[in-house]
Amino acid sequence: MRPRVQPLLFLVICGLPLLAAGQARPLPGPDVQQIYQRLLPQIEQIAIFDHHAHPGFSDDPDVDAMAAPPGSAAFRERDTNPELVAGAKALFGYPYDDLSPEHAKWLVQKKAELKKEKGNTYFSDILDKLNIEQGVANRAMMADYLDPKRFVWVFFADSFMWPFDNQRERSRNADEQVYIPLQEKMLHRWVQQEGLSKLPPDFAEYLKFVSRTLEDNRKKGGIAMKFEVAYFRSTKFSDPAREDAEDIYQRFVSGGIPSKDEYRTFQDFMFRYLIREGGRLHLPVHIHSAVGIGDYFSLSESNIMNLENILRDPRYSNVTFVMIHGGYPYDRQAIWLASARNVYLDSSETEILLYPSEFKHTLKLWLETFPEKITFGTDAFPYNEVLGAEESYWLGVQSSRTALAAALAEMISMGEVSEAQAMQMAHGYLHDNAVGLYAGKVH
Ligand SMILES: [Zn+2]
Repeated sequence: MRPRVQPLLFLVICGLPLLAAGQARPLPGPDVQQIYQRLLPQIEQIAIFDHHAHPGFSDDPDVDAMAAPPGSAAFRERDTNPELVAGAKALFGYPYDDLSPEHAKWLVQKKAELKKEKGNTYFSDILDKLNIEQGVANRAMMADYLDPKRFVWVFFADSFMWPFDNQRERSRNADEQVYIPLQEKMLHRWVQQEGLSKLPPDFAEYLKFVSRTLEDNRKKGGIAMKFEVAYFRSTKFSDPAREDAEDIYQRFVSGGIPSKDEYRTFQDFMFRYLIREGGRLHLPVHIHSAVGIGDYFSLSESNIMNLENILRDPRYSNVTFVMIHGGYPYDRQAIWLASARNVYLDSSETEILLYPSEFKHTLKLWLETFPEKITFGTDAFPYNEVLGAEESYWLGVQSSRTALAAALAEMISMGEVSEAQAMQMAHGYLHDNAVGLYAGKVH
């Protein structure tokens, strides 16, 4: 079928200058460097909304519902990356050129002094230095040292899927030994928050408890729920009947270990229940959709394409899905999931794993496909006492701005978009697309 509005006519309607007629070229011209130099300062002026990060100090156990087991870090993420020294220099005036233990002491000391001096504006000041207007704090619980005007809470929703004896789940491998007890702890905290002494024996009551927790988290300022389920099991979800989930719940809530299939069935039902509630409560659903840390993270079982049956299920057409980390390394396929009206891709983590020269390719393809469906995030995280969320904020922002300017410069030079369209895309990616999802709760 032909589109009713011709694309060129559409541009005129939107008031953007038309490109010179002609076919897009396959190679950028000699002007590309110049265009890049012109775009970058304009991009730096855009006040950012950071759609995914874990702000906090390294000794704060509420930063994530999960802890990182020792795994193999990609080259750019290792402590030896000299870019991290540049970050410490830019943010704190770090006087050394390496992070040797002797020198790193200076940085630890400096941060401790600032933390004492600034109190709850410490992290707001980091945002100011990077021109981030507001950012998500994806945390187990919010911290009183994060200013709620600058940081909005995204809470974790996975733990409702692990209410039974998790002995077998835990013993699967060393990563799960770390992760599963933290999910149990999280569920226990929700139980306490809702004033219960233990999980209700009745399934209908359990579902009410789950919904009440989501409602209360929303009242506490939560703007979205986040799943990191890919760390614990396959992201392929079947569609079990409620009676099956109910039967399993009532048999195992007070003890005993369900079979692998029974546990899976129960979880598949709960996942669907939670996202349906996300639609009802206007809480967008964030899902970790990329490669993950640790030694046992399964790339094939967490492939973003596993979620296609959920994302394209008309029963969830009122749910906003944000695919956190944009499916990397399946980012090329992932962008086509954003063809669904209610599906968005967030680029966090990808811009830290990849250097800007490579991340530029991801961004360019996404901008050329569904530019209004992609959002920016840093995935800032306090890795350790020396390399904190501060440096990862810096690296995420610098990497994304330079890669974005490079991708757009090429698109302009090759005759794909005008400069005005390119800047509109930049505003969309760094701020407008994400902010539009939260009905005035963020800015
Ligand atoms: Zn994250």
